[in-house]
Amino acid sequence: MSVNFKCLYCDHYLSSRNVYSQHVKYCNELKELNTSTEESNNDISDTVSSINEMSLDSDDFSQIEELQN
Ligand SMILES: [Zn+2]
Repeated sequence: MSVNFKCLYCDHYLSSRNVYSQHVKYCNELKELNTSTEESNNDISDTVSSINEMSLDSDDFSQIEELQN
């Protein structure tokens, strides 16, 4: 039975220490990239959905704008 190394950042199991350290290094960088990207993507999608809601009902336009600010 071989020992698996579990990644600190995701649920990946690596079969050797060598592969593990490569993956952790890669995964760490990827995680940091994804974290900042996800945050900005969420902001964008929130804004887009708000814009869509606003254009569906123009009466709510000023209300939503006030809430966002
Ligand atoms: Zn990982």
